[in-house]
Amino acid sequence: MSGFSVDIASLSPGSHRIGLECEASELGLSQQDWPRPVRGDFDVQKSGDQVRVKGLLSAVASLECVRCLKTFELPVRPPFDLYAERAGTGRRRDEEALERDEYMKFHDGRKLDLGEAAREVLLLELPMAPCCRDDCRGLCPVCGADRNTESCPHL
Ligand SMILES: [Zn+2]
Ligand SMILES: [Zn+2]
Repeated sequence: MSGFSVDIASLSPGSHRIGLECEASELGLSQQDWPRPVRGDFDVQKSGDQVRVKGLLSAVASLECVRCLKTFELPVRPPFDLYAERAGTGRRRDEEALERDEYMKFHDGRKLDLGEAAREVLLLELPMAPCCRDDCRGLCPVCGADRNTESCPHL
Protein backbone atom coordinates (compact mmCIF):
# COMPACT_ATOMS: atom_id res chain seq x y z
CA MET A 1 0.00 0.00 0.00
CA SER A 2 1.51 3.33 -1.04
CA GLY A 3 1.01 6.72 0.56
CA PHE A 4 -1.40 7.39 -2.27
CA SER A 5 -4.35 5.40 -1.03
CA VAL A 6 -7.93 6.23 -0.28
CA ASP A 7 -9.73 4.72 2.67
CA ILE A 8 -12.93 3.78 0.87
CA ALA A 9 -14.41 1.75 3.72
CA SER A 10 -15.04 4.95 5.68
CA LEU A 11 -16.17 6.92 2.66
CA SER A 12 -19.87 7.66 2.43
CA PRO A 13 -21.59 7.27 -0.94
CA GLY A 14 -21.34 10.40 -3.06
CA SER A 15 -18.63 12.78 -4.07
CA HIS A 16 -15.62 13.77 -1.96
CA ARG A 17 -12.67 16.10 -2.49
CA ILE A 18 -9.54 14.30 -1.38
CA GLY A 19 -5.99 15.59 -1.42
CA LEU A 20 -3.07 13.19 -1.11
CA GLU A 21 0.63 13.83 -0.91
CA CYS A 22 3.64 11.58 -0.55
CA GLU A 23 7.26 11.23 -1.48
CA ALA A 24 7.90 10.01 -5.02
CA SER A 25 9.77 7.00 -3.68
CA GLU A 26 6.54 5.78 -2.06
CA LEU A 27 5.06 5.54 -5.54
CA GLY A 28 8.01 3.51 -6.76
CA LEU A 29 9.56 6.48 -8.54
CA SER A 30 13.19 7.43 -8.27
CA GLN A 31 13.72 10.10 -5.67
CA GLN A 32 16.51 11.51 -7.81
CA ASP A 33 14.27 11.93 -10.86
CA TRP A 34 11.32 13.18 -8.79
CA PRO A 35 12.91 15.27 -6.04
CA ARG A 36 9.74 16.77 -4.59
CA PRO A 37 6.61 15.32 -3.03
CA VAL A 38 3.89 14.21 -5.44
CA ARG A 39 0.48 15.66 -4.87
CA GLY A 40 -2.93 14.55 -6.04
CA ASP A 41 -6.17 16.53 -5.89
CA PHE A 42 -9.02 14.20 -6.54
CA ASP A 43 -12.75 14.07 -6.75
CA VAL A 44 -13.65 10.62 -5.43
CA GLN A 45 -17.12 9.34 -6.24
CA LYS A 46 -18.37 6.29 -4.47
CA SER A 47 -21.45 4.45 -5.55
CA GLY A 48 -21.90 1.02 -4.04
CA ASP A 49 -18.68 -0.86 -4.70
CA GLN A 50 -17.77 1.35 -7.62
CA VAL A 51 -15.27 4.11 -7.09
CA ARG A 52 -14.33 6.76 -9.61
CA VAL A 53 -11.30 8.95 -9.01
CA LYS A 54 -10.78 12.00 -11.18
CA GLY A 55 -8.42 14.86 -10.71
CA LEU A 56 -4.95 16.19 -11.22
CA LEU A 57 -1.53 15.08 -10.14
CA SER A 58 1.22 17.55 -9.56
CA ALA A 59 4.88 16.70 -9.39
CA VAL A 60 8.28 17.98 -10.38
CA ALA A 61 10.55 15.90 -12.56
CA SER A 62 14.29 16.41 -12.64
CA LEU A 63 15.44 15.91 -16.21
CA GLU A 64 18.57 16.25 -18.28
CA CYS A 65 18.31 18.56 -21.27
CA VAL A 66 19.06 16.63 -24.47
CA ARG A 67 20.74 19.67 -25.99
CA CYS A 68 22.94 21.16 -23.25
CA LEU A 69 22.96 18.19 -20.82
CA LYS A 70 22.08 20.41 -17.87
CA THR A 71 19.73 19.09 -15.24
CA PHE A 72 16.54 21.08 -14.93
CA GLU A 73 13.22 20.77 -13.15
CA LEU A 74 10.00 20.34 -15.05
CA PRO A 75 6.71 20.76 -13.18
CA VAL A 76 4.00 18.45 -14.53
CA ARG A 77 0.27 18.45 -13.88
CA PRO A 78 -1.28 15.52 -15.70
CA PRO A 79 -4.95 14.61 -15.39
CA PHE A 80 -5.78 11.45 -13.50
CA ASP A 81 -8.81 9.29 -14.11
CA LEU A 82 -9.40 5.89 -12.60
CA TYR A 83 -12.33 3.61 -12.15
CA ALA A 84 -12.33 0.82 -9.58
CA GLU A 85 -14.56 -2.06 -8.74
CA ARG A 86 -14.54 -4.42 -5.86
CA ALA A 87 -12.54 -7.55 -6.58
CA GLY A 88 -14.13 -10.96 -6.38
CA THR A 89 -17.75 -9.91 -6.55
CA GLY A 90 -18.30 -12.90 -8.80
CA ARG A 91 -19.79 -10.82 -11.58
CA ARG A 92 -17.96 -10.48 -14.81
CA ARG A 93 -18.15 -6.89 -15.84
CA ASP A 94 -19.00 -6.26 -19.41
CA GLU A 95 -15.94 -5.83 -21.52
CA GLU A 96 -17.38 -2.70 -22.98
CA ALA A 97 -17.00 -0.93 -19.66
CA LEU A 98 -13.46 -2.23 -19.29
CA GLU A 99 -12.58 -0.85 -22.68
CA ARG A 100 -14.32 2.44 -22.25
CA ASP A 101 -12.53 3.32 -19.08
CA GLU A 102 -8.97 4.24 -19.57
CA TYR A 103 -7.80 2.80 -16.33
CA MET A 104 -9.62 0.15 -14.42
CA LYS A 105 -8.62 -1.25 -11.07
CA PHE A 106 -9.97 -3.52 -8.39
CA HIS A 107 -10.14 -2.81 -4.68
CA ASP A 108 -10.72 -4.93 -1.62
CA GLY A 109 -13.53 -2.86 -0.17
CA ARG A 110 -11.25 -1.21 2.37
CA LYS A 111 -8.54 0.72 0.62
CA LEU A 112 -7.89 1.79 -2.92
CA ASP A 113 -4.22 2.20 -3.72
CA LEU A 114 -3.67 4.83 -6.41
CA GLY A 115 0.12 4.63 -6.25
CA GLU A 116 0.74 2.39 -9.21
CA ALA A 117 -1.66 4.27 -11.46
CA ALA A 118 -0.17 7.61 -10.39
CA ARG A 119 3.32 6.37 -11.17
CA GLU A 120 2.28 5.30 -14.66
CA VAL A 121 0.55 8.59 -15.38
CA LEU A 122 3.59 10.57 -14.26
CA LEU A 123 6.05 8.49 -16.28
CA LEU A 124 3.91 8.87 -19.41
CA GLU A 125 3.95 12.62 -18.88
CA LEU A 126 7.71 12.89 -19.34
CA PRO A 127 8.84 14.27 -22.70
CA MET A 128 10.81 11.93 -24.97
CA ALA A 129 13.44 14.57 -25.60
CA PRO A 130 13.43 16.97 -22.67
CA CYS A 131 14.74 20.48 -23.25
CA CYS A 132 15.57 22.94 -20.49
CA ARG A 133 13.87 25.61 -22.59
CA ASP A 134 12.47 25.85 -26.09
CA ASP A 135 15.34 27.92 -27.39
CA CYS A 136 18.17 26.04 -25.70
CA ARG A 137 21.14 26.33 -28.07
CA GLY A 138 22.88 23.21 -26.82
CA LEU A 139 26.53 22.33 -26.80
CA CYS A 140 28.98 22.93 -29.61
CA PRO A 141 29.61 19.54 -31.24
CA VAL A 142 33.25 20.48 -31.83
CA CYS A 143 34.48 21.94 -28.54
CA GLY A 144 31.58 21.22 -26.20
CA ALA A 145 31.04 24.86 -25.25
CA ASP A 146 27.59 25.62 -23.85
CA ARG A 147 26.21 27.90 -26.53
CA ASN A 148 23.72 29.39 -24.09
CA THR A 149 26.51 30.99 -22.08
CA GLU A 150 29.69 30.90 -24.15
CA SER A 151 30.68 31.70 -27.69
CA CYS A 152 33.20 29.64 -29.57
CA PRO A 153 34.70 29.93 -33.07
CA HIS A 154 32.76 26.96 -34.46
CA LEU A 155 29.40 26.94 -36.17
ZN1 LIG B 1 19.36 22.94 -22.46
ZN1 LIG C 1 32.91 25.18 -30.39
